[in-house]
Amino acid sequence: MDLVIRNGKLDSTGEAVEVGITAGRITAVAHEGLPAAEMEIDAQGCMISPAFVEPHFHLENALLWEGALNHSGTLEEAIDIYAKIKGDMPIEDIVGRASLALQSAIAHGVLWMRSHVDIDRTAGLHILEGNKAVRQKFEGLIDIQLIAFPQMGLVRDPAVIDLMWQAMEEGADVVGGMPHAERDMDEAARHIEIAFEIALAHDADVDMHVDETDDPYWHSLELLAEQTIENGWQGRVTAGHCCAMSAWDDALAGRVIEKVAQAEINVITMAPINLMLEGRGDSHPKRRGIARVKELLEAGVNVTCGQDDLQNMFYSFGNMDPLEVALITAHAAHMSAPHEIQMAFDMPRYHAAKNLRLQNYGLQVGDEANLVVLDAHSAVDALRRRGDRRYVLRQGRILAETRTGVNWHFPAMT
Ligand SMILES: [Zn+2]
Repeated sequence: MDLVIRNGKLDSTGEAVEVGITAGRITAVAHEGLPAAEMEIDAQGCMISPAFVEPHFHLENALLWEGALNHSGTLEEAIDIYAKIKGDMPIEDIVGRASLALQSAIAHGVLWMRSHVDIDRTAGLHILEGNKAVRQKFEGLIDIQLIAFPQMGLVRDPAVIDLMWQAMEEGADVVGGMPHAERDMDEAARHIEIAFEIALAHDADVDMHVDETDDPYWHSLELLAEQTIENGWQGRVTAGHCCAMSAWDDALAGRVIEKVAQAEINVITMAPINLMLEGRGDSHPKRRGIARVKELLEAGVNVTCGQDDLQNMFYSFGNMDPLEVALITAHAAHMSAPHEIQMAFDMPRYHAAKNLRLQNYGLQVGDEANLVVLDAHSAVDALRRRGDRRYVLRQGRILAETRTGVNWHFPAMT
């Protein structure tokens, strides 16, 4: 074996574990007693977990903060501010800011990402070029799937339809969408149809921003579920946000959730962003503006959580730490029981890996050695303390080490 990690704890049960790695793959998992290897890591009782997955992010506008103040704090104003900026972003500017975001993500153990790329009349394919340059720069460090994202609509501006086809031919991997960017539900249905035409032609997954609004009029998630089944694209479609769910009545929510489960749609909640942008027009009580996470999970839907934005006009915070996003999700979705906390911890790991249809993800013999040695001993400990990612390994190669500590200036008290 090239590498053995000793004194670890299994991410699922907390049992003692050693992991052996050969040629980038896990070749042995045992409680103890693995033979000596060329290189050894002492996990010092930390958890060994498969690395994290960031399923929904926007690299191009990460850290666009100075001079982009969102006075109302709403999604609408954020989109307006960004629309004025995005046409003039030099490629090196996109690459520079995105690189900072990606380095932080890798330090936190993220080795896969889906990033939405604005495709519209203002952006043209220019932003795609910036994203492709970033993807190239980080090749071999983090896998990035690019989603062609028509944020300003397709039916509303048919010129964008051609750009979407071109984007898929020129390096985008996934077909995005935003049906509620259209004028009504009929146009939203056509928007989804167009996306499926492109996705089917390219054998690509579909990953849309869906019903990111407090307005219960919008239930394009139902249309997406219906068209997913009609097109036989079960398991290959993702719906991000789904905020309007929190404004629907229970009857509508129940009906749509059932269809989402049948269509095997993955749902990504962006709890930090949704809590910040939604409900701005409400007096008290204010809606939380997030997807109905627990109801979706109960119906068997694969639910995960995403960072979405990093310190920009949409969101003032963020640290590219999936554990922070999972913690905020747990708060927003009332996930406080141990099994619910475990579920929140699994969202940026097993759930997101399923969403991206990653192969050989996990901690079994034969899986790729994409691992995090995490300073935690359980799911609740992982979310509560969001401890150091002591080691981040990609295919058995150490990419990052983090070790923070306190220098006490008084005698030990415990
Ligand atoms: Zn987004």
